[in-house]
Formats: sequence, C-alpha cells, structure tokens
Amino acid sequence: MRIIFTLITFLMVGTSNATNSRDPHSFAVLDQVSTQHLYLDLSVDFQKKTLAGFAEHRLVWHNPKAQSLILDTKQLSIKKILYQGQNKSWYRTTYHLGASDPVFGQKLTISLPKQPERVRIYYQTSPEATGLQWLTPAQTAGKKYPFLFSQSQAIHGRSWIPIQDTPGMRLTYTARIHTPADLRAVMSADNTQNAEKDGDYMFHMPQPIPPYLIAIGVGNLHFKAMSQQTGIYAEKETLAAAVAEFSDTQIMIDEAETLYGPYAWGRYDLLILPPSFPFGGMENPRLSFITPTVIAGDKSLVNLIAHELAHSWSGNLVTNATWADLWLNEGFTSYVENRIMEAVFGPARAQMELALVSDWVRKSIQDIPLEKTSLKVNTQNKDPDDSFGAIPYGKGQLFLTYLEQQFGRKTFDIFLKNYFQTYQFQTMTSEHFTQYIQTQLLDKYPGRMTEKELHEWVYGQGLPETTPDVTSPAFTKVQEQIDHWVAQKITTSQIKSNHWSVHEWLYFIENLPETLTLEQVKQLDNRYQFTTTQNAEIAWAWFSRTIPLQYTQANTSLATYMQRIGRMRFIVPLYKLLNQYGQRELALEIYRKSRLGYHPIAQHGLDRVLKI
Ligand SMILES: [Zn+2]
Repeated sequence: MRIIFTLITFLMVGTSNATNSRDPHSFAVLDQVSTQHLYLDLSVDFQKKTLAGFAEHRLVWHNPKAQSLILDTKQLSIKKILYQGQNKSWYRTTYHLGASDPVFGQKLTISLPKQPERVRIYYQTSPEATGLQWLTPAQTAGKKYPFLFSQSQAIHGRSWIPIQDTPGMRLTYTARIHTPADLRAVMSADNTQNAEKDGDYMFHMPQPIPPYLIAIGVGNLHFKAMSQQTGIYAEKETLAAAVAEFSDTQIMIDEAETLYGPYAWGRYDLLILPPSFPFGGMENPRLSFITPTVIAGDKSLVNLIAHELAHSWSGNLVTNATWADLWLNEGFTSYVENRIMEAVFGPARAQMELALVSDWVRKSIQDIPLEKTSLKVNTQNKDPDDSFGAIPYGKGQLFLTYLEQQFGRKTFDIFLKNYFQTYQFQTMTSEHFTQYIQTQLLDKYPGRMTEKELHEWVYGQGLPETTPDVTSPAFTKVQEQIDHWVAQKITTSQIKSNHWSVHEWLYFIENLPETLTLEQVKQLDNRYQFTTTQNAEIAWAWFSRTIPLQYTQANTSLATYMQRIGRMRFIVPLYKLLNQYGQRELALEIYRKSRLGYHPIAQHGLDRVLKI
C-alpha cells in the first residue's frame, strides 16, 4: 500500500482477545487447521449496501485432535454454517461468535469434530463494513452508476469474508460475483478484459496469496489495453487520461524483471478508483488499485505505479509474517520502487524522489514517539493501520539504500534477487531476515557492516548514525534560490524557477523557511498560483504551509480539495493543521459536507482526529 508522507496515529485501541501467539491481530490458530482454497459466491446489492452469499473453505487439518475452525469476522451477519460429509452431502453445524472488538472484530468458532474438507459459511456483510466502500453515482466520475471497492489491508478483509485474516497464511481462491447487469466486477484474479457485461462474473486466482490481497471492485468499468500484459480498468470518463499517464507500465515491468527476476503473476492491470479511495494505491495482485489523484497529466507522480508494481516482489511474493514486520513489505517496496524509477526515468529523478523521502523521514521522526521508531515494532493490542508511516516506508528504504552503498550495487542486486526467489510465496519475519542477511552478506563480505549495525537498523530506535545523507544536485539549486529569496537578495519575481519539475516544486514549498510570513505567501501565490494548482501533491504541500498562517484566500480551494479527495495521506494532516491552528470551525464545516463521501477507514480516523 502507498500512503506515505504522513504518520497515521489515530487508531489506538485497548486490549484484544486475539489468541494466536504468532499474529496478535488474528484469532486464527494456523497450526490446527488452515484454508488451502476459498470459493466465494456473493451477490452485490447497492440498495442495501451488502454482499451476501457464502464462503466455502477447503481445509487442511494439521492437528488430528482439532475439533474446530476459528475464523476472523467483523460486522458479519452469519446465516448458517454447513460442512460436507464423506458422502458429499452438506450438514449443518454449530458455531459461536465471540465478543465484538471495534478493531479486531469477532472470533467465529465453528464446531467441526469430523474434520471435514469443506465448510460453507452463509453470511451477509454490514453496510458499515470497514473493508468496503459503497459510492453513490454522485461520488463517481460518470455520476450515473454506483461503485463498490474493497480495501482489505491490513485487517479489513474479515469485514467482507469470514477468514483466517493473517498475512501468515496463503490461499488460492475462486469467486462467482453477481452484480446489476450493467456493471462490471473485477477482482485480484484472472479478469477477462472485455467480457460482456451480464452481471455474472467468475474469477480464479491460482497463486497462493495472503488474505489481505483478496480484492473486489464493481462499477461502470471499461478496459483499455496498454500492452499485451497491461491495461486499465476505469470509468469511461477517466480511462483515456489514465492510459496516457501510465503508458510506461510495461517498461516498468520489464526493468523490474531485469533487476529482480520474472514477474510471477501473469497480467498486470490497474483499476482506477474514484477520488475517495483512502490510499494512493493498493497492490492487489494482477490488479493494483490506484487513486486518480496521481493522474497529473505529466507522469510526475507515476512512482506510485512503480511502488504498487514493486509489491509484486516485496509483499505479494515474499510477505511480512505479521504486521509487526510491515517494513519488510513497505521498506523493500519503496527501495524497489526507486530502482524502477531510476531505470525508467533516469538517476536525476530517482535521486530527487529519494531525497524527498530522506527529508520526510528526518522531519517526521521528530514527532514520532521513540518506541515507535524501530523497523520491527511492537504491534500487540494495536490497530495495524497505525503502523503505516515514515518508519516502515522511509526508514526501511534508507536501510536498503545503506546496504546497497555498503555492499555495492552489483552484490546487493544479486542478494535481493536471490532473496525474492528463495522465499517466493512464503512469509518472512524480521528475525529470519536478519539471519539471512547475516549469512548472505555480512559473513560473505566481512568488514562492510557489523552485526551490531545490522541489529541497530532493525531493532534500534531513531535513525542510526550510518543513515545515508541523501542529497540531490537539483535540490541544491532550488535551495540556493530559497536562501537568496529569504535573504532578500532577490525578489519573488526574480526566483529562477524555469523548467522546475514537480519534485523541485515540492522541495521548494516544503523547504520554505519556518519564518514564512503571510505577505510572502501572498507574493508566491500571486506569481505561481499554487492555490489553484491541479497537481494534488503540490496543492497538498502548499495548503500544509498556508493553513498555519491562516491564509484565508485559499479556503475555498482548500475546501473543494478536501471534499473531492479522500486520500488519507492528504486530508488527515490538513484536518489536523486546521484543528491545530485556530480553524476548527472550518475543519468541522468541511468535514460535515465531506464525511459521507470518505471511506469508512478515513471516517473512523478523522472522527478521532476531530474528536467528534
Ligand atoms: Zn506499499
């Protein structure tokens, strides 16, 4: 998933009654019984905002004494549960739903003393399911048809499928999805690109995936191919712009394969979601879910595609065993993303993107409680949505950048390629990775890095002394302009900003001095019209600077921006700033108008931020 540049620290929870010692965020007990294959038969009801039908689990029993199957559920209404007997007939069995926890949901214990191979749970989701967003036609680009999409990571899959909801297991799945006849369903599986719309769709995902990668989207979707292997699903209104913006996707795959070995998933398509999608992207296998806020018209934000594609190796192929090891997914992915960007767009741009990450980590780490600044984190009793931020993404990326520097690019590339190949379709813990790196790099190439340094990076707090100091020659020039302008050696109209890229503009805005005055903000806006920019990143960076100065001329644009976009990385910090800098009334007014258009995950977080 891509959310970076803000730390989401609002979903603290009390105690959990999760029992699995291996994954504190799941009730599943994997050493008793696990699901090998899942079959879903679900009907999509836009009126009721529900999915209803059944989930059939094909089980593998690991303990001959086990008598029950424990699944994670959240807000599900269970109708009945059947198991298949030896004679292939189906029989009812009893079950028990435990107490409901707002984050972890309910433990579903199904009594199965005969250890059957198949069990079917008939159920219906809640309109408030945290893993689903139901959009009215007005909330879509086309305004005529409703839209549904899922977001299962980290532990929201259980709100639409009763399942062992832990990244520590893998399963294959098939699904039959019934929708209104004029809509198309797509899943993280083998989509039929131009299948006739008939409201009845079949899917198959033959490669074993962790449950958080099961995904569905339903809407007035059209498809356009970008190459034999890649294409885009989107509403008609967004399709052409998306195809133009992401036309380098095939080149990205080719470059990634050269670096890290074959792409394991067959097709790679993108699903462009409406702007309320709470994240930048989600790496659902074969079909990344993408925010339309990166369609900037100039490919300036396509590192998001490189990021989601990179997950095809780090995350989807080699998966963090629990959410405490999130950095193994996101830090690796951020590093691989940057390598893909370098291969496709050249070193200057990649260096700028890495320098922005480095700045972001160094700035944001000051506001993160020290105990939350290690790569391996303690997530016991905490909402794993809390863990996504500068540490797993940015510090993780800087660690891999450091390894590359110490061992040399050639050696480190071979190491990573072997790592992905050795552990493909498996899970990984920080402990296991530390052992692997010890034998594959530290022992083989003595004198480059000590065991102490390795442990400091993975388990230590803050940034190690060895953290690479990343600079970009392009940013050095931008900084000169800022310095001259602040020292009044040049006027606003004399700032040499010709041919600056989006990255240089971002650096410029983010590095304007703390002493910035309202008058200076007005001068800059008069010259550059930042307030009305159509680039979502630049707008965000700009509003982040203007809110503390109460630059009220930007309020109309700010409100429009926050109402239109549901991406949490943008809106959560803006609400926080409004709240913090004396504009709580404005924050509440915008939120009242926008709340229902936001994803349940965003609503939940913002309710806490604004304490309503
Ligand atoms: Zn990611």
